[in-house]
Amino acid sequence: MKSVYFFNEGDGNNRKLLGGKGAGLCEMTRLKLPVPPGFVITTEVCKNYYKNNKKLPKNLLPEVKRNITKIEKKTGKKWNSKENPLLVSVRSGAAISMPGMMDTILNLGLNDETVLGLAKKSNNPRFAWDSYRRFIQLFGKVVFGVDDKKFDEVLERAKKNQAVQADSALNEKSLKQVVDEYKKICEKHSGILFPSDAFEQLELAIKAVFSSWMGERAIIYRNKNNITKNIAEGTAVNVVTMVFGNMGNDCATGVVFTRNPADGTKQIFGEYLINAQGEDVVAGVRTGKPIELLKTELPDTYSQLANTCKNLEKHYKEPQDIEFTVEQGKFYLLQTRSAKMNAAGMIKTSVEMTKEKLITQQRALLRLNPDQLEQLLHKTIDPNAKGFVQFAKGIAASPGAASGVAVFDVQRAVEKGEKGISVILVREETKPEDVPAFFSSAGILTSRGGKTSHAAVVARGMGKACIVGCSELKIDYEARNCQVSDRTIAEGDVITIDGSTGIVFIGAIPTVEPKFTDDFKTVLSWSQKAKKIGIRANADTPEGAKLARQYGAQGIGLCRTERMFNAKDRIGLFIDMIMAPSKEKRIQVLEKLGALQKSDFLQILKAMEGYYVTIRLLDPPLHEFLPNPEELADKLRKLEQQNDNETAKTRSVLERARNLAEINPMMGHRGVRLGITYPEIYEMQIKAVFEAAAELLKQKIDARPQIMIPQVSSIAELNHIKRIYDLIKTEMEKKYNMKIKINFGTMIEVVRAALTADELAQTAEFFSFGTNDLTQGTFSFSREDAEGTFLPEYLDKELLEISPFQSLDVNGVGSLMQIAIEKGRKVKSNLELGICGEHGGDPRSIKFCHNNGLNYVSASPHRIPIAIVAAAQAKLEKPAKIKRKKAKKPKKKAKTKAKRH
Ligand code: ADP
Ligand code: MG
Ligand code: MG
Repeated sequence: MKSVYFFNEGDGNNRKLLGGKGAGLCEMTRLKLPVPPGFVITTEVCKNYYKNNKKLPKNLLPEVKRNITKIEKKTGKKWNSKENPLLVSVRSGAAISMPGMMDTILNLGLNDETVLGLAKKSNNPRFAWDSYRRFIQLFGKVVFGVDDKKFDEVLERAKKNQAVQADSALNEKSLKQVVDEYKKICEKHSGILFPSDAFEQLELAIKAVFSSWMGERAIIYRNKNNITKNIAEGTAVNVVTMVFGNMGNDCATGVVFTRNPADGTKQIFGEYLINAQGEDVVAGVRTGKPIELLKTELPDTYSQLANTCKNLEKHYKEPQDIEFTVEQGKFYLLQTRSAKMNAAGMIKTSVEMTKEKLITQQRALLRLNPDQLEQLLHKTIDPNAKGFVQFAKGIAASPGAASGVAVFDVQRAVEKGEKGISVILVREETKPEDVPAFFSSAGILTSRGGKTSHAAVVARGMGKACIVGCSELKIDYEARNCQVSDRTIAEGDVITIDGSTGIVFIGAIPTVEPKFTDDFKTVLSWSQKAKKIGIRANADTPEGAKLARQYGAQGIGLCRTERMFNAKDRIGLFIDMIMAPSKEKRIQVLEKLGALQKSDFLQILKAMEGYYVTIRLLDPPLHEFLPNPEELADKLRKLEQQNDNETAKTRSVLERARNLAEINPMMGHRGVRLGITYPEIYEMQIKAVFEAAAELLKQKIDARPQIMIPQVSSIAELNHIKRIYDLIKTEMEKKYNMKIKINFGTMIEVVRAALTADELAQTAEFFSFGTNDLTQGTFSFSREDAEGTFLPEYLDKELLEISPFQSLDVNGVGSLMQIAIEKGRKVKSNLELGICGEHGGDPRSIKFCHNNGLNYVSASPHRIPIAIVAAAQAKLEKPAKIKRKKAKKPKKKAKTKAKRH
């Protein structure tokens, strides 16, 4: 296999083989752009180097020599020459750019003789010696691992001796001295003479670049960024003829973006320096000048640069990030790659490049990273904010930034919130009974729990900033403060939380408002047209429903009725219901609750007029609505001491709470099991749905509720509730004297339900996959415990690529879904299928749902725009495959699986 490619030989698309930098240099050479001659040693050679016990393959050096000869011919310069020496840079470059993996060696080929050649040829001995000392420093650092500090000391001493301030003021004599000392440092460190032969230098440099691939920095970077072997394996080495931006005032070097990466504006954006070498700009040794000034300083260069930007964009169909150098007026390109941009920049460039006819609408959508769009939907920390102190770090659970006073008590959070004070609720964990405080807080911070803990799920649903699992935080409810090592935040102290990064700061940090720009709206409308799968929202309140509709949701896939009971004016009633001593008393309370539920349903159904609203009957175990038994016991002790008249009541609540407590509540007395043991609860809820629907229909409002039963594991359970539903339906149709069509369906969130979906489909008119619980059941991982304990380690040790609670586990949970889909549709070909777990807002999971023919995904309101774009991408990526799907080939299962590896 060919191991070295001269720049005009390489295929610019083969980034895996040539690395990103190498592919870019080859491509630009083919486009006849001014790239200094050079060649790429492939990533394959790097892989062989490791297979071979860190030895270069035998054929490599002869091939490198042949390519050096080619450069000599092209440039007229000579390797090891005393007249006109050829110098090169040696640069790493993997398939994916890995900033800081290793330093580039510049000016390779210099030695005590060639430096004289360079001095003569450039007519600038100072420049030649300066280049030489830079070379020794970089070489010493990269090849021998010498600490930069040692070189800096020498340089400082030289400046002192010559009584000057700047490096650039050092004269030839001083520089010669520096070169001498630098070499000694390297020799002492490596135990060998500093190599003077250019080939020897090159060989060592190539090995050093290959070795940097397994350097600590590189490995950490790859782990952090999930760069697996199939994305990038090994680095290429680029050997490039040196061009000098530091030979005088007609020389320069710079870095530019073809469009502004901060907002996407069409303008050349970047910096340059006159009389400097590339690394000066990159390393920030000197502050660059804004690129517009180049227009007046070197007008010819500027117009060449502008032209190049245009041509590169036209060719790559993507804004570019480029490096250039000007040597005595001659313009050279040293690198190009797709520009990394923030979400606003990506959106704007997608719309503008489409209008410019540079790209198609399809490409405009496919180039977006849906997850990145999150930035545009929430407040973010002002990127210009400076000088703030990090207090703690937890798990980023719900994006957005919020500042406010820390409050450790739910009741006081509500009081302060109602006074208009911005509050950050800080708790060890939260329970449904704490939800009133969510409404009145700007953000939530907990010391326990993971991404799908109660606090995280509720906060996301409401679009509030939230950090969970901040385990270094020691909260003292009594003292009303929290501590991280020796720092304390007391109630009333201002903190800022960034739910996108998980960082807690001390004080109020300025934030910027989200930007829902016209360009963003354009992208969403294109996506709406392009996608196939429906997008519904998980919304439990009229406000949530309205917001979801504004964002483009076509219905509600999950309306959790228990959320309504958590509002401040209801939780008391709900507790009364739980505490009711008899069925009669319970029914009395339920009647009041029913009226409240009905009024919510009326508003939600109206907000979603014309679209389905899937209402799930009560799901969580009852004890979740009661205060924590430990806290109750504490309270009781105090009340007893004070002989308070609330003592008796508190005692009975405590008894009930202990009574209802379960060892494993997630698998406990909840969902349909509650509906079977307390039928009056489900009766009340079903009735409230029918009444709301009937009243709206009378007003000619197209209300479309559906009733969904949670936690079903058998057809017997489902039919049991169906009989209640049928009775109420008959009663209601008589009462309102009209036909009322309300679909009756089930969640598929219990493993047995998935396996017996054909039975369930006999009764159910729709299925909704509750993938949170289904994932718990499939893995036997208790979600909230797992996320706080072993799951992070599973991820660290790569036993899991990503948390299955965040992105659907296609091989396991996905297979169960496929079984249910197939069995369900066999019985009812028009069975409506959707997903309402957290996965409904995850782009990778959305792709799976699209590919498996689901009718819709349901996501929290704030993820709707992301889901819409992801759905469009799923369709655009695999349009042909979907058609095949309809034919129901049994092969499909294997295919989806293979693709995901
Ligand atoms: P990085 O990947 O860290 O940007 P590069 O290999 O691109 O490293 O090089 C670092 C700096 O050296 C850049 O500014 C680059 O433009 C400059 N440089 C690299 N090769 C040459 C060369 N042959 N002539 C002049 N400058 C070069
Ligand atoms: Mg670079
Ligand atoms: Mg569930």
